[in-house]
Amino acid sequence: MSGLAGITARVAAAAEKAGRDAAEIDLIAVSKVQPLARVEAVLDEGHRIFGENRVQEAQGKWPALRDRYGDISLHLIGPLQTNKVKAAMDLFDVIQTLDRNRLAVKIATEAQERGSCPDLYVQVNTGEESQKAGIAPGEADAFIARCREEYDLPIIGVMAIPPADEPPIPHFDLLAQIAERNGLSHLSMGMSADFEEAIAYGATAVRVGSAIFGARVPGVPTGAATSG
Ligand SMILES: *Cc1c(COP(=O)(O)O)cnc(C)c1O
Repeated sequence: MSGLAGITARVAAAAEKAGRDAAEIDLIAVSKVQPLARVEAVLDEGHRIFGENRVQEAQGKWPALRDRYGDISLHLIGPLQTNKVKAAMDLFDVIQTLDRNRLAVKIATEAQERGSCPDLYVQVNTGEESQKAGIAPGEADAFIARCREEYDLPIIGVMAIPPADEPPIPHFDLLAQIAERNGLSHLSMGMSADFEEAIAYGATAVRVGSAIFGARVPGVPTGAATSG
């Protein structure tokens, strides 16, 4: 058994405490770097929403798992290089890490060609950390408007990964404000350590890895070719 049932119960309790409907909160099981057996266990328990942070790793395991388990919703939650856009659009139902103009142009061009596009979130670097992906908070409104109006991209929400060494709530609050003023209904925030607080601040998607699957063990085969 994974930690899935316990986390599902905690999501429901946090929703209730916040006066929200748990059905409006997606639990994204973050399966990156997890041994395949653990991922299969969570699929066998009936879960169908998963997150991966590397295109190449996801390519190595999800096509086969989709064939076996059917209607999976797969979210890209890690940085996307422009040369991996096609592969990402082939594989993912949702891309949560749109964070720069060049990437927006590339996705828009590809979307035009195929006549379809995954749902998109704009990633916001709420902590303005130099090493972290995401658009700066002060540039978010203009970027979101440009993606929608100029590139006609299906932006449905915003996503953030708060700094590891700061209380997350101010970051959740900032992201919620950006969503609100841009009329976006989806908010991806909260991980294993803080998903209940994120739900209190309006998260509609929480990304939980280790609390469901157990600690990530580097070096254990994941069923994917490693991308280095
Ligand atoms: C790995 C990862 C998570 C899950 O982290 P846990 O602490 O294991 O829950 C969530 N979001 C992103 C973007 C990640 O890369």
